[in-house]
Amino acid sequence: MERLYVKIAERDNVAVAVRDLSEGTWITEDIQCRQDIPQAHKVALCDIASGGEVIRYGVVIGYAVRGIAKGEWVNEHMLKLPQSPSLDDMEYGTNIVEMESLPKPVRTVWRGYRNAAGSAGTKNILGIVTTVQCAAGVVRAAAERIRRELLPKYPNVDDVAAVTHPYGCGVAINAPLAHIPIRSIRNLIRHPNFGGEIMVIGLGCEKLTYDKILPEEDITPENVLTLQEYAGHDAMMHAILEMAERKLKRLNQREREELPLSELVIGMQCGGSDAFSGISANPSVGYAADMLVRGGASVLFSEVTEVRDGVHMLAARCKDKEVRDRLAEEMRWYDNYLEEGGVDRDANPTPGNKQGGLANIVEKAMGSIAKSGSSPIVEVLSPAELPSKKGLIFAAAPASDIVCGPSQAASGIGLQVFMTGRGTPYGLDICPVIKICSRNEMKDHWFDMIDISAGDVATGKATIAEVGTEIFEMILDVASGVHVPYSDLYGFHNDMCIFNPAPIT
Ligand code: CA
Repeated sequence: MERLYVKIAERDNVAVAVRDLSEGTWITEDIQCRQDIPQAHKVALCDIASGGEVIRYGVVIGYAVRGIAKGEWVNEHMLKLPQSPSLDDMEYGTNIVEMESLPKPVRTVWRGYRNAAGSAGTKNILGIVTTVQCAAGVVRAAAERIRRELLPKYPNVDDVAAVTHPYGCGVAINAPLAHIPIRSIRNLIRHPNFGGEIMVIGLGCEKLTYDKILPEEDITPENVLTLQEYAGHDAMMHAILEMAERKLKRLNQREREELPLSELVIGMQCGGSDAFSGISANPSVGYAADMLVRGGASVLFSEVTEVRDGVHMLAARCKDKEVRDRLAEEMRWYDNYLEEGGVDRDANPTPGNKQGGLANIVEKAMGSIAKSGSSPIVEVLSPAELPSKKGLIFAAAPASDIVCGPSQAASGIGLQVFMTGRGTPYGLDICPVIKICSRNEMKDHWFDMIDISAGDVATGKATIAEVGTEIFEMILDVASGVHVPYSDLYGFHNDMCIFNPAPIT
């Protein structure tokens, strides 16, 4: 029989409609829809008293603002937000899954570019990083010429990426929080896909001077170029193209080699989520994450506001007290950051999230966390920090898609897996992005923009293990360069909006 609703945990008193359900539909022998319930929205499985707990994923996602009748549509206006869990003395290490019980990787090697610095790339890219937005126009124009005039001569080089972030000047460069954007730029220069080639373009009068992002020995004419030193357009372009060509000659020598999974670092994030994200796409990606972790790879997940309400569940998976303390520290920092801006974590859900059935941040968080799978958390990073461990890592960063991506990229991911319910053409130029959607309707609609649909998990036609394995295989194929995801096929790449919580002057 066709599945009409999905109930996650035994104690849930609401379930999610698998498709649009019209008024009068019997979803079980004794539950009849009292009105039309849109796909992905919630239906009450029993009467809920005013003030009563509304439970999904086995957790209280809100309190009923009025009595809700069995079979009624439970929408975002009917729920009062619960308090977020306390960060004090969270239990840790109480839910540590043994490596042997994680799904065994169906493949144990991939083919990537080994770097002298010890990292491994998934692509071979000439990365040009600006010190300041003032140089962005020149660098983008130069990148276009490099792509057109030089790249055809160097067939082993995949692309040119102009990392033209908004930072660099007009900022309080010595503010305590400036270390976040500065660290982001410093680490992006060394992104594993750039093969150790440093190409930094500055203007000449900006606050972000070369010494803030490069060690002294790397500040050479070989690696840095200052626009104000050149006499006009032609001289400037000529210098940039000449510098690029020297780098391209070396990059062209790079070759893929077989590497163990332990050399792979991938990031996970979601965007444009709906109520299916936590049922189909995110748990399937979580399964792939478990497989990668068991194989020795590193998996980063982020999006602080979207894990805040499930932080106690993550603390239980922290391998020790130190990791738990770091997790609490990052959450506290973000609580304060939001408070200073006069909002709280419920500022996160978008109109599209709500249209997709997500009532509030608690419900969104429960789905969001599913992408981390079930393995132990071995490390917690501040935004744009580099990992020092292998395994599952919480890399604190805003949930905003276009900020989370560059932040994870600065932490060195070679590939990002991106889950969506509503659909977004998101992509990054410095590393490939694989897009997974939560509903088959989304895949039908954007058939040539979404890489994998996890929708069959929601309809009951496929298991999380089946879709998770498919995602795992695609991760390895894309990382190895044998499959090109849609975002790279079309060059749908977002701007590098690095996280800057510090003042702008
Ligand atoms: Ca996001």
